[in-house]
Amino acid sequence: MLSQKMQEALNAQINAEMWSAYLYLSMSMSAADKGLKGMANWFAVQFKEEQDHAQIIINYILSRGGRVLLAPIAAVDTEWGSALEMFEQTLNHERKVTAMINDLYNLALDEHDHATRSMLTWFIDEQVEEEDSARDIIDQLRLIDCNKLGLYMIDKEMATRTYTAPAPLQKE
Ligand code: MG
Repeated sequence: MLSQKMQEALNAQINAEMWSAYLYLSMSMSAADKGLKGMANWFAVQFKEEQDHAQIIINYILSRGGRVLLAPIAAVDTEWGSALEMFEQTLNHERKVTAMINDLYNLALDEHDHATRSMLTWFIDEQVEEEDSARDIIDQLRLIDCNKLGLYMIDKEMATRTYTAPAPLQKE
């Protein structure tokens, strides 16, 4: 059985993942408003992935006989000065999420909760990818240095991103 403390921490993580989803949906809407269809697509895929992250934890809590309690989702920004600012906020946010996952993992170790620790390893690997992809795009945006043709090219590339369900949800 999950400890009360672990159940509360996992519920807090569900809320953080849903907040992430809401943040990226807001970024997708902002990009669409600026005519950046590829970037809108990139963030729309990100929006789905964050909902998946929440779903993975929900499924896990239920499989352990725990209780999922959904809390309100806090407001997110709706405007950004530039595409670069959006991705800088994305990277900063993902770093915070990584720290939260690490804290959860430490709690699982402290409690000798091996099932939760095992479930979290997928998230640890996922966070490496999340930070890496945000950093890649930041590098590209810095390289073009506000050049509009460069932004157009990056936007075209981002239009090619497609959604696939993450491994933990494919098993079902
Ligand atoms: Mg996430």
